[in-house]
Amino acid sequence: MTTDLGVEATPLALLLLGRESDPASERGTACPGTLPPASEPSLVERARAAKDALGDKVFVLGHHYQRDEVIQFADVTGDSFKLAREAAARPGAEYIVFCGVHFMAESADILTGAHQQVVLPDLAAGCSMADMASAEQVAEAWDVLTDLGLAGDTVPVSYMNSSAAIKASTGRHGGTICTSSNAEVALRWALDSRGRAGRRVLFLPDQHLGRNTAVRSLGLGLDDCVVYDPRKPLGGLSATQLRDATMVLWKGHCSVHGRFSLDCVHDVRRRLPDVRVLVHPECRHEVVSAADLVGSTEFIIRTIEAAPAGSTWAIGTELNLVSRLAKAHPDKAIVFLDKTVCFCSTMNRIDLPHLVWSLESLVEGRVVNRIEVDPATAADARKALDQMLALPAN
Ligand code: SF4
Repeated sequence: MTTDLGVEATPLALLLLGRESDPASERGTACPGTLPPASEPSLVERARAAKDALGDKVFVLGHHYQRDEVIQFADVTGDSFKLAREAAARPGAEYIVFCGVHFMAESADILTGAHQQVVLPDLAAGCSMADMASAEQVAEAWDVLTDLGLAGDTVPVSYMNSSAAIKASTGRHGGTICTSSNAEVALRWALDSRGRAGRRVLFLPDQHLGRNTAVRSLGLGLDDCVVYDPRKPLGGLSATQLRDATMVLWKGHCSVHGRFSLDCVHDVRRRLPDVRVLVHPECRHEVVSAADLVGSTEFIIRTIEAAPAGSTWAIGTELNLVSRLAKAHPDKAIVFLDKTVCFCSTMNRIDLPHLVWSLESLVEGRVVNRIEVDPATAADARKALDQMLALPAN
């Protein structure tokens, strides 16, 4: 079926991606207790009743990529950085229920007080990008740089989308965390902060955000960037390549944004001649280069809000957000950049049954799926997060 914008409608079976449980991919993450069935008709009322019963003791955070059925219960919505700050600004809330993915809940735990407990309604809600850099791999990479005499003038810059262990490693080595909103500022700080020549950045785990920011915002060349593959000796690079590089990009990517291709951009421009293409910087460099506008999730939302009625947009980011923007702005034609479904399947793990189960458990005095970062890791990670907070505003 094709809509009047020439966009193929999404098959229902694909829209249900992530709604069913998948035991093979949820090993070790079984819910302790009884999860209500998704078909239970009173889930909305139960979620509302549990939230009302908890009152100010609970604060529910909802990432922009969450399902509508969950986002309706969020006290605040935002990207990962905004949500972490919102959690930190609510010291009165005993429980922070994070409707997002694992690394976000970890950041919230690091930034909130010891008296607060962070809950992730489904522990299977991970992030494939964050999983592409393990603490052991990053420690090995740092050893490589140290052995080559390069660690002294290399600054680690880690994307918010990384585990607490990676953030801690970043803090221990004098680096900073960044988001897609402040990556340019973070890179300028890392390359200029101590005024030494020959400085380089180890950027992890998303090679695309690192490359796009370095080339588009800092004016570096593609040949100033090398990709470090943690599965190969020396990252698959020569000592000279590592020494000469300004940007050492970790070989990681977002499986959702990585799906958008140059063909998607060409195709939508053919179908909708007046379209403006708006993409997230986690997309591949050729996609970002062919787009009209590039920016973080918050930038994408602001751009659509400010767009004139009658304008046409193809957006390259997670589908839950694009669908919500299309519904909220019926005076604008908003289509998804890819012709096939592109939900973040791990974000979609948080559904209404898991939210009801976690809220009702709290009402009964049981804290389920608590995310807790050990104090030593949290202290080092906090250094890198505090460095980010100290960066000048964009
Ligand atoms: S959209 Fe990509 S980066 Fe974000 S949580 Fe999903 S896999 Fe991770």
